[in-house]
Amino acid sequence: MTAAEAEPTVFERIAAREIPATIVAETPRVIAFHDIAPKAPVHVVVTTKTGAYRDVVELAAGDPGLLAELVEVARGVASDLADGEFRLVFNTGAGAGQTVFHVHAHVLAGGLEEASLG
Ligand code: 5GP
Repeated sequence: MTAAEAEPTVFERIAAREIPATIVAETPRVIAFHDIAPKAPVHVVVTTKTGAYRDVVELAAGDPGLLAELVEVARGVASDLADGEFRLVFNTGAGAGQTVFHVHAHVLAGGLEEASLG
């Protein structure tokens, strides 16, 4: 089964407005929304609307410009919702905690010294 034939992931369904989410930023190719289970005062998921990249390694190899766009959206989210300083986390592989296999970054910001990131 190719990625295109696979069931859409929860993030693709959020981007398609099939599942509700609190969207905080969007470009034609990238979307950002609050994580449903926040682990920091600001915890936003930034993901791609196009392409079927499983993780950041595949995205960097396949479309580095889209990765740069994702990082720029993350920067903007951290500026809009916090003080502009942020942690950017790409869980890569199930053993590293990845549960949704559609590339995404976690933007963690706002009082990280008190946040549990486990
Ligand atoms: P991962 O573990 O793959 O790096 O990150 C997946 C993230 O997606 C988790 O932090 C989880 O809380 C979040 N998540 C899973 N399902 C949903 C959902 O339906 N809506 C939102 N907003 N976040 C979700």
